[in-house]
Amino acid sequence: MCGIAGIVANFEISGSLYWALHALQHRGQESGGISTYDNEIVHKYKGFGLVSEIFASGILQNLSGKTGLGHVRYPTTGGSKPENIQPFNFLFRNHSLSIVHNGNLINTNELRHEYEGRGHIFSTTSDTEVIAAILANEIIHGHTIDEAISFCMRNIRGSYAVIFMLDGVLYAFRDPLGIKPLCFGEFENGGHIVASESVALDAVGAKLLRDVVPGESICLKAGNVSPHRIMTVKSPAHCVFEYIYFARADSVIDGISVYDVRQKTGVLLAGESPAKADIVSPVPDSGTAAATGYASTSGIPFREALIKNRYIGRTFIMSTQTKREMAVRMKLNPVRGHITGKSVVLVDDSIVRGTTSRHIIALVREFGANEVHLRVASPPIIAPCYLGTDFPTREELISNRKSVVEVRKAIEATSLGHISLEGLIKAIGVPYSHLCTGCLTGKYPLAIDGEEEDFHGIEMIDPYKSSGL
Ligand code: SF4
Repeated sequence: MCGIAGIVANFEISGSLYWALHALQHRGQESGGISTYDNEIVHKYKGFGLVSEIFASGILQNLSGKTGLGHVRYPTTGGSKPENIQPFNFLFRNHSLSIVHNGNLINTNELRHEYEGRGHIFSTTSDTEVIAAILANEIIHGHTIDEAISFCMRNIRGSYAVIFMLDGVLYAFRDPLGIKPLCFGEFENGGHIVASESVALDAVGAKLLRDVVPGESICLKAGNVSPHRIMTVKSPAHCVFEYIYFARADSVIDGISVYDVRQKTGVLLAGESPAKADIVSPVPDSGTAAATGYASTSGIPFREALIKNRYIGRTFIMSTQTKREMAVRMKLNPVRGHITGKSVVLVDDSIVRGTTSRHIIALVREFGANEVHLRVASPPIIAPCYLGTDFPTREELISNRKSVVEVRKAIEATSLGHISLEGLIKAIGVPYSHLCTGCLTGKYPLAIDGEEEDFHGIEMIDPYKSSGL
């Protein structure tokens, strides 16, 4: 998770960055920050909380400049500490470097060890600082910025969408498997924005140009976008969970509408796992599009059984089980009149530990439902994620320990059905070989110690060849 955005324009950009990050808030709610450059110095502000809480009145006015970047954080590598809040800002040899990252490196420890051996001192436990150290080290040793990015991409492994600002110039690059999303667009009156999801572009009135191609870097400068293809792969490995849960339904990722994918999963799920019921209801919000698909195909009326309090965060990204359980009760309230005496199909995006599903089903029963059939718009999650999603260990994943029948019993559903992997891939509309399905299959798109690799064959290509817009 994590959301990132960078803007270069011919107007003061802190307000636009604020709204871009606000649109990406679903990707991380622990902390956030903005750094801007005013042709002389870098202005910066960051803190814990939601974007609207961090940037209280007056703060944005102090973040002057026409170039800048920002981050909303969901803690993975490094834990929840003030020093790990991004952007990270550095000064070295008359250069200023600010950097934000979405993803997770799997060779952070080796790289830290190597750079510490060269005398580099790290002030955070974040993998993002390792990326910054590599870039700075290359620049200090006289390499061009393109060479520094190329060297960095050849040496870091894992998932990464990175935006950095070096001496007021904005750069971005995306890992060669394209695991994490990154796209860019332009403002009508000049300037560009690069961000995790297209909703950030929509929020500031920018037009989506395209996604950053996996293995590509771009430089955004004074009205121009200069792309360089650094690495290439046989096929990408886009994270399927962006489509299932992470991304906002109104985003378009790698040319695919997230809403349409979710709706199609519901359509296919209704065929694969039918139920006899009085109403179909989503578990809001990420189950909503799939529930509309399920209802339209099954012919069962769509009626909301649960109403979401919009001021409670996403339960999956809360840090403890107790907080998550309390949040379910605070977040979802049943509509008694829709469910009393009824048989209900509930459509949810996924089952992780099973505890949230059990609480929701108990809540719907408590308000009078006779039967609760749970339909899940993802296959069972059976393995951890090493690439940026804080899924729990194999032992904590309920579907790793139990069969679908056993999970149904544990969560006390009348019936339980998941979409098949084939159905999910059909709904996304790209071949299986273009997706990361590690947490669903236990096969990962790159070599991870102790895990099975689904080979994607990363190769270097001419590092400075322009790919053209
Ligand atoms: S393992 Fe799962 S959550 Fe992690 S990147 Fe792959 S598909 Fe996404």
